[in-house]
Amino acid sequence: PDLAPDLVVVGAGFFGLTIAERCAAELDLKVLVLERREHLGGNAWSEADPDTGIEVHKYGAHLFHTSNAKVWEYVNRFTDFTGYQHRVYSQHGGEVYPLPINLGTINQFFRSAHSPAQARELIAEQASELGGKEPENFVEKGVSLIGRPLYEAFIAHYTAKQWQTDPEKLSADIITRLPVRYTYDNRYFNDTYEGLPVDGYAAWLERMADHPNIEVRTGVDFREHREEYVGRVPVVYTGPVDEYFDHDEGRLSWRTVDFEREVVDTPDFQGCPVMNYPDADAPYTRIIEFRHFHPERDYDSEQTVIFKEFSRFAEDTDEPYYPVNTPEDRAMLMRYRDRAKAEDNVLFGGRLGTYKYLDMHMAIGSALSMFENKLRPHFADGEALTSGGVDA
Ligand code: FAD
Ligand code: UDP
Repeated sequence: PDLAPDLVVVGAGFFGLTIAERCAAELDLKVLVLERREHLGGNAWSEADPDTGIEVHKYGAHLFHTSNAKVWEYVNRFTDFTGYQHRVYSQHGGEVYPLPINLGTINQFFRSAHSPAQARELIAEQASELGGKEPENFVEKGVSLIGRPLYEAFIAHYTAKQWQTDPEKLSADIITRLPVRYTYDNRYFNDTYEGLPVDGYAAWLERMADHPNIEVRTGVDFREHREEYVGRVPVVYTGPVDEYFDHDEGRLSWRTVDFEREVVDTPDFQGCPVMNYPDADAPYTRIIEFRHFHPERDYDSEQTVIFKEFSRFAEDTDEPYYPVNTPEDRAMLMRYRDRAKAEDNVLFGGRLGTYKYLDMHMAIGSALSMFENKLRPHFADGEALTSGGVDA
């Protein structure tokens, strides 16, 4: 049915679908969602592996976690969650260590039985090369957190493979995503709520779009239709911000990941969902074995499916995954933000629209804020939809 939309959303990822769902359900707006891929859901999409039936995350492993009670309540309207807790192991020098760096990692690495206080003292001494200087980039931050030897073993080569960028040019934020713990707790995330959608990401994402006021058109690229909508109807754009402006200010740099899929003739390849390879001799950064994300499921397969991950700079036709965010990128982003602010009736959001690494809960949380702070005031109270800004 051809409904004349009240709002056009570009991109059917978590950000776009949250906007669409809220506007349709709360404000009774007719929302048209344009998605250039052949399926909705953005990068969180998952599907059954054709050979094994195991649910695979097509664009990289996605683990849901949040401490935001509002977001947790919201997502639970569309799916139940399993009790999955993420844990990661790391294979260095022919041994397997627990991540994130914790007392178990430290004691195994140094062949010691340090107490938490002794381990803190050891790491503080090994971080002392900074001489109390405030860490300014990725390397300094890493060394300040875990000392040089652990940094070299678990971080330096992994990061070189992942980013292929001089780590002195990488932002310190990237490393602070990983906790360092002086206990044996090896849960990867610190968040209050965690789990995986009981019947998969695809079912969750499809339920968000399942509303009579929402039409999702897949296989449609907004770039070929912008004149039909821009200036005529409010648009929430979650595609790449530089692409919206035809790269006039330059191309923001992204990393992409190639996934090498293998079906292995064993019911269990590595005994855990994620094994990192922080040494220089393995060309991949990590191996994901998807069946371990759902130990509660009865996957009836004698085979297992694994993805090896290879990271590299994204070319024009690649999927942009991780913003590189060098100082040059940040300067360029400022120019795009100014232009985005001047774009009346177009709001920019999501991971690509803001050039920010957003976890799912952050993308959803930021969409809920855009709905409450911009879209509801506009549609319910007639406020102007201006100065959306990239940083909405
Ligand atoms: P996206 O999901 O990227 O959706 C944007 C959509 O817009 C895409 O479907 C795209 O095709 C579409 N689009 C773009 N341009 C156009 C256009 N011109 N016309 C039409 N459609 C267009 N988060 C977690 O919380 N936990 C994790 O474990 C996790 N792991 C991740 C692993 C990887 C490898 C990556 C890349 C991300 C991971 N994330 C994870 C982050 C998660 O994917 C994002 O938070 C989420 O995808 C953000 O949703 P979004 O809607 O902003 O963007
Ligand atoms: N990292 C690392 N070694 C590891 C895991 C992570 O050096 O074994 C670094 C790497 O630079 C990575 C960052 O920490 O980009 C953040 O890790 P995270 O697991 O959050 O990365 P993601 O899952 O987003 O790729």
